[in-house]
Amino acid sequence: MSKSTINAPQGATGGGESQRYPLDAFRFCPRCGHDQLGREQERAIRCGVCGFLFFFNTAAASAAFIFHQDQLILCVRARDPGREKLDLPGGFQEYDETIEQGLQREIREELNIETGDFSYLCSAPNDYLYAGVLYKVTDVFFTCTARTISTIRPADDVAGYILVNPLEVNPEEFAFQSTRQAFQHLLSAYGVRSATSADGIA
Ligand SMILES: [Zn+2]
Repeated sequence: MSKSTINAPQGATGGGESQRYPLDAFRFCPRCGHDQLGREQERAIRCGVCGFLFFFNTAAASAAFIFHQDQLILCVRARDPGREKLDLPGGFQEYDETIEQGLQREIREELNIETGDFSYLCSAPNDYLYAGVLYKVTDVFFTCTARTISTIRPADDVAGYILVNPLEVNPEEFAFQSTRQAFQHLLSAYGVRSATSADGIA
């Protein structure tokens, strides 16, 4: 187990893109206020004065490739990170909810549609830089269907949405690396299933 001193971020508002770990955003011990924080393993800080130990575990987030008939519903992000880029409906889990509950809630909040027939697709790690702090996230991806989209009303951190044939999506338009990774997974599954089923993945 190695321990190294944390480098304080440059500038008063944090290190932004220079951050590699969430703990790079912290300089003083939140318990005693001394500046003797050391890194403990990769995910924790320990104060050299009072012994305070805190783990920055990964955050859990979920997202869905929602199909309406043979088209995919993709969101356009309203905020940074990735403002105006494509994203999936989804988001961070709240405390004490299941992944499925969180995903259903996020889809309701962001698009105002009801879904629920979630099928697990894959998971992928992601870096989420928000307000000068880097969050390490584990994204969990699902597929599902929306029977009707007549109620769609983009809200929250979604500026708009598009309906698109998945084979026409440019993966570079996605805001996050994890989504690109999951999308490749989806295309593989889509390719395999569309070869054996006229209905495709939905
Ligand atoms: Zn301390």
